[in-house]
Amino acid sequence: MAGRSLAYLATLDVDVVKNIGPQIKKKLNGAGIESVADLLLHVPRAYLDRSQIFDLSAVPLDEEVTVGGTVLSVQQRRLRNRKVMTTALVSDGTNVISCTWFNPYIKIREGAEIVLSGKVERFRGALQMKNPDFENWGADDALATGRVVPMHRSAGGYSPSNMRKAVFNALSRSRPITEILPGSMLSRVGLMNRDEAFGAIHFPDSKDEVWPARHRLVFDELFRLEISLAMQKQRQINDATGISHDPAGEMVGAFVEALPYRLTGAQARSIDEIQADMASPHPMHRLLQGEVGSGKTVVAVAGLLTGVQSGYQGAVMAPTEVLAEQHYLGIRDLLIDAGLGPAAIDPAGKSGTVSLFAEDEVDRSGVRMALLTSNNAEVNALAAGAATRAEVIEWIANGEIDLVVGTHALIQEGVTFDKLGMAVVDEQHRFGVYQRVQLREKAEDYDPDLLIMTATPIPRTLAMTLYGDLDVSVLDEMPPGRIPVRTVHKTRDDRALGRVYDLVRSEVAAGRQAFVVCPLVDESEKLEVASATEEYQRLQGVFPELSLGLIHGQMRPAEKDGVMQRFRNGEVDVLVATTVIEVGIDIPNATLMIIEDADRFGLSQLHQLRGRVGRGTHASTCVLIAEPTTPQGEDRIAAMVETTDGFRLAEEDLRIRGQGTVFGERQAGAKDLKLADILRDAKLLIKAREEAFALVAGDPNLDDHPLIRDEVIAMLGEDVEWLFRS
Ligand code: ADP
Ligand code: MG
Repeated sequence: MAGRSLAYLATLDVDVVKNIGPQIKKKLNGAGIESVADLLLHVPRAYLDRSQIFDLSAVPLDEEVTVGGTVLSVQQRRLRNRKVMTTALVSDGTNVISCTWFNPYIKIREGAEIVLSGKVERFRGALQMKNPDFENWGADDALATGRVVPMHRSAGGYSPSNMRKAVFNALSRSRPITEILPGSMLSRVGLMNRDEAFGAIHFPDSKDEVWPARHRLVFDELFRLEISLAMQKQRQINDATGISHDPAGEMVGAFVEALPYRLTGAQARSIDEIQADMASPHPMHRLLQGEVGSGKTVVAVAGLLTGVQSGYQGAVMAPTEVLAEQHYLGIRDLLIDAGLGPAAIDPAGKSGTVSLFAEDEVDRSGVRMALLTSNNAEVNALAAGAATRAEVIEWIANGEIDLVVGTHALIQEGVTFDKLGMAVVDEQHRFGVYQRVQLREKAEDYDPDLLIMTATPIPRTLAMTLYGDLDVSVLDEMPPGRIPVRTVHKTRDDRALGRVYDLVRSEVAAGRQAFVVCPLVDESEKLEVASATEEYQRLQGVFPELSLGLIHGQMRPAEKDGVMQRFRNGEVDVLVATTVIEVGIDIPNATLMIIEDADRFGLSQLHQLRGRVGRGTHASTCVLIAEPTTPQGEDRIAAMVETTDGFRLAEEDLRIRGQGTVFGERQAGAKDLKLADILRDAKLLIKAREEAFALVAGDPNLDDHPLIRDEVIAMLGEDVEWLFRS
């Protein structure tokens, strides 16, 4: 069937539609409706069944009904507020009804046959309707009565009934709308034809038609998105020159051997998956997804060492300085235990002169490590041999560093790598897509392998859309011996707080440690710091016998590091902190987490914070101090108390906040998701993905499917155009 394609309709300005002039066009544009296609995708939010016409003698009262009849008389009266009150008497032969409209103007004439929809009331024995929708009987655009009436959302102040008419006009000029999917796919997935679907979603003959129509249009959205992801992935494979790393080297084995614990099955499996990717000549793009505390770090280190033992450099990018430092120290200790201790940097190495150390003192098999943050301090005390920042940058550039851990500083201009082979982005949700691309681009002539780690427990379906171009490894198994964190909700009430503080004392008496996280202060790190500092001073009064520490974002890195070190060593009992400790921090001896004003945090943030405890073998508690003032706040606290399952919390979060906030600007194509709800439509998403990936596998540039290609470009815009350039 020929007809008009959605891609073509997307090129038509909305003002080609009858009755849409510049004014209305502006309103619609303001609501994101620019093209005829946009208008057609502005689907009703609800339907009112007005297909049954009641006799006036038997009409039910006070509910939405449709009645019909002949207009016996019309009266119009001008009111003081410049409105016109119109009253009409209508008879259907079984009874008479009086209808009143308060409108600027109602066009209705005596003798006309009309249908009316609205609520019928009885007033002093007589039937009446106020402001009913009405239509001429039998008029072929009888849109609002005598049928299932679509309720379109108003857009930019353009009323629902005007929207309905605009859509009707647009639709009648556009149909038939071209089918773009092969018939075989339609029957495989069980989809309605597209033209039918547009007709039925806007103006169904019965409510039963709506679901299959919506199903079809939702599939289209998901399919377009998945096509773009499939192509992106294919581009990454075809355009890229990767590295074949050698998984058989000795470092990884030595490292795993020396760990103080055995890898979980999930860790071992993920390492295998990563190594298989790294061994292949195609660059790896893998997401390592795992609940907080599931042990992602060692998996990443195994990957990094696979690169290092093959003669390449590795890099780990973390979102905060505190976390970068922790990784640096933690990885360094693990390497030392494995006999891969950081070898001394040989500053003269580049020029080929002999090392400052005698040959036998320098273990050349060691992994040379450095830390790079935006810390401006001249001397980076943590970097190998207290190097200056400039030195560290130089050593990365000339290959004297094998493994660098850092923050955003890693992707700054001026930082170049000699041979970056494996890049890890930790806590990916804190970075944008471009930042992960930037890290990869630090290697110039080829594409290094990339591992992205996230503890944000994204529902699987969301991960498939957000990160659909990535392969995924999941750590779905916690290290043994973990006890789920008990979560309790307390108010600020003194007695409740007193009991919370008793808990702090008893945990410390048992040799454990505690975090106190201070309220989030919107938009102002300064205020946040002030409140944390105040809380720290106050708690010193509460716990004169304990050793307290304070950490916040405005401390100098060396200070932060000092506090973290003392907490790690057990010299600090209670660490008062802002959200700088939100991600990644790993202190297994800490068993108590107190979160002040917990209702002001988002769910995933609370979950991350709670993930700072329960990382060892001792039972842990998380105390949420909150007096939620909104239903959402209450929902979040209740969800936290109820479950520690990050995936369930993520779904709950999605439910509370909606998918828009989860997507953000991150994903091309997300803005094309108007009807689809990735939670509700999860099954369809999986089908769309299978179909899209299979199609692209068989027709890489969509040359045999030009309609699909044109539509994806038209609907997803410039974000995807590059994918199709040959
Ligand atoms: P996350 O996945 O949150 O980044 P980490 O990598 O920080 O988790 O690991 C959390 C804690 O679990 C660390 O203290 C780590 O040493 C420990 N750990 C990791 N793997 C195991 C394992 N297989 N068995 C026991 N403990 C482990
Ligand atoms: Mg981590």
